[in-house]
Amino acid sequence: MDDVDTGPELLGPEELGFDPQVLRDRYRAERDRRLRPDGATQYIAPTGDFGYYVDDPYVTTGRDRAPLTDDVDVLVVGAGFGGLLAGARLRLAGVDSIRVVEKAGDVGGTWYWNRYPGVRCDIESYIYLPLLEEVGSVPEEKYARGDDIRKHAQAIAETFGLYRDACFQTEVTGMDWDEPAQRWRVTTDQGDAMTARYVIFSAGPFSRPKLPGIPGIDDFRGHTFHTSRWDYAYTGGDQTGGMHRLADKRVAVIGTGATAIQCVPALAQDAAHLYVFQRTPSAVDERGNRPTDPDWLRSLEPGWHRARRDNFLAVVDGQTTADDSVVDRWADPTRHLRDLLRELGDPSLSEQQRFRARELADFRKMNQIRDRVDAVVEDPDTAEALKPWYRYDCKRPTFSDEYLPAFNRPNVSLVDTGGRGVERITEHSLVSGGTEYEVDCIIFATGFEVGRTHPAFAGPRVHGRDGRPIAEHFRGGARTLHGFTSHGFPNLFCMGPSQNGVAVNFAHVLDDQAAHIAEVIAAAEKHGSGCVEPTAEAEQAWVDRIRREAPEMTVLAECTPGYLNNEGRPPARRETYAGNALDFAELLRRWRAGDGLSDVLAD
Ligand code: NDP
Repeated sequence: MDDVDTGPELLGPEELGFDPQVLRDRYRAERDRRLRPDGATQYIAPTGDFGYYVDDPYVTTGRDRAPLTDDVDVLVVGAGFGGLLAGARLRLAGVDSIRVVEKAGDVGGTWYWNRYPGVRCDIESYIYLPLLEEVGSVPEEKYARGDDIRKHAQAIAETFGLYRDACFQTEVTGMDWDEPAQRWRVTTDQGDAMTARYVIFSAGPFSRPKLPGIPGIDDFRGHTFHTSRWDYAYTGGDQTGGMHRLADKRVAVIGTGATAIQCVPALAQDAAHLYVFQRTPSAVDERGNRPTDPDWLRSLEPGWHRARRDNFLAVVDGQTTADDSVVDRWADPTRHLRDLLRELGDPSLSEQQRFRARELADFRKMNQIRDRVDAVVEDPDTAEALKPWYRYDCKRPTFSDEYLPAFNRPNVSLVDTGGRGVERITEHSLVSGGTEYEVDCIIFATGFEVGRTHPAFAGPRVHGRDGRPIAEHFRGGARTLHGFTSHGFPNLFCMGPSQNGVAVNFAHVLDDQAAHIAEVIAAAEKHGSGCVEPTAEAEQAWVDRIRREAPEMTVLAECTPGYLNNEGRPPARRETYAGNALDFAELLRRWRAGDGLSDVLAD
């Protein structure tokens, strides 16, 4: 792979206290060590004995209901924050007839399924949880627990009447556009054959767990489960811990990503022995969770939520002049950049110099993360193995004040696989570096199949005008206007990151997407056309713009492999809008206020 050509150094090793070239070489070596010839195909779907995601462990009621054949104005597929926001924003725009269809037994999406011990949002909850002002609630803690987030999802559904007409435990299997009726015919696995004038598809990026294709995985005779279907019947306890049934169990966790960082401390507390199998260490920063300050709460003025959310996005996006309202570790790379620019005398930098400045700020941030490992972890070998050697954005940054200390416990062992992953699984053990670790239970913290947010890549069969399959429309790559709509697929809106604005606070992005879609549907209703479809020309212009301007993947290509860079084989560019999510929301606002709507509303 080509070097990222960035020109001369801004500061030398003597001024910095470290040698940037040494770090670059180390990062490169770590990435190469981790690259595998099988790339993204190393993972397998959880089927057969591993069919964890087929059954819903949380439902208390049967699926019994008569199949539906009725008609609604808007059918929303998915009741995670995307679908709930779509429903809520539609209600606020005056749409009454809305049906949410959801595979799970209730609302919440990823927060419905992920109930592992320690689950919390990794973004400040005051800006992560949507519609706080509309629902009239404020989380009890700066980083809310998973079940509080799920309760907030339920409160949104209650506040906006989204339980009415909702279908849970129901998976959409097909959507066919009926041109004469100007409706989507929607079929489900419950025998429904409903119709809807508009469909909004919001599947969520983390809905299908994936497993590592480790040789021998099928031979294991002990217990297994995936973190997104935590088996409390086996462990005992709940999201707050107390897993008393693990007191005599040797437990293995495979994976050290954002999920493992949250559940390992609870397992460390309760398991007889915990083995954490690591391929690539996460960057683990301070968390500093605390209860919500009632004085701060009283000081909030209407509009605070949007202002705080927008401010976070600007700061994390690297705007060094923005004041930071949220004040947490997410803003550190920007703080380091700001300090560095001051050190350099705030010169006007060339693009190459700006790249170097961002890289230096990143080195400083990652040095801080590595120093923290040394400060917390007592055993020097374990500390060394827990240090991440890559740029900050290569993986989802993580935050925990309990994860690193867990490795100081006598009942916790880090099994560092040297970037190669678990070698083999046998009937009773996992093998790494030639050593066999006998365990009673394996917990897969191995993440999710990503890139399935659009129906062209997800489950249901979708046929648009003239019966054209959406997968055929997407054969040469995604084809949308603004990521939402496609020519030949009237009144179908898709939420998600493809050809759209993105941000680390994805709930923020979803809210902007929902508000836009609701306004477009409301405009179509007011206009009387009842039909929203981009012209082929408008769609082509957006596809061209995305392919021309989308951010290059040069830096991500240099990263250690993971789902963010397609396991080390990224495409040349991201399929996302070039600016940040605030710019994108502004672009949509201008589009709606100008003559954009005339491109999508039928006469
Ligand atoms: P990830 O995909 O981030 O992590 C999977 C882990 O499994 C990695 O550490 C990976 O190693 C490891 N792994 C995979 N195969 C093997 C193998 N053969 N041997 C050893 N290790 C292996 O999944 P997560 O569930 O942790 O997180 C997914 C996403 O969910 C996050 O990126 C984040 O966006 C979101 N999330 C958000 C939270 C929130 O609070 N909002 C909380 C938790 C998750 P390697 O890195 O080498 O590939």
